[in-house]
Amino acid sequence: MVATSFIENSPETKPFWDAASAGRFVLPVCRQCQMMHWYPRGFCPHCMSTMLEWQESHGEGEIYSFSVNRVGREPYVLAYIALREGPIMLSNVIDADLARLSIGDRVKVVFKPAAGQAPVPLFAVT
Ligand SMILES: [Zn+2]
Repeated sequence: MVATSFIENSPETKPFWDAASAGRFVLPVCRQCQMMHWYPRGFCPHCMSTMLEWQESHGEGEIYSFSVNRVGREPYVLAYIALREGPIMLSNVIDADLARLSIGDRVKVVFKPAAGQAPVPLFAVT
């Protein structure tokens, strides 16, 4: 399983993890061009502005691409999720029927508890 594609304790990602600890899924949005982006960073990748804030996301999207990894005890799904708000996020799809999983399947974020750290955002087919 992929834990996350970014560092938990950086200034750029702390608001995300604080929200995740409260069960909220947030994304960075640019106050200059209004575009959301992923991954968190200190500037907007669309217009280079540093005027960023965090907004609640629906936590919904669809599978943009995925692979089923069969190394290890149990197979798992690594996927790019195209979020409804636009950004594409690397994560895992959990509890999926691997024989039926398809690009375009609708998914929703679920937070998986993690020992000693904030819950990890994963996705489940809806
Ligand atoms: Zn921008």
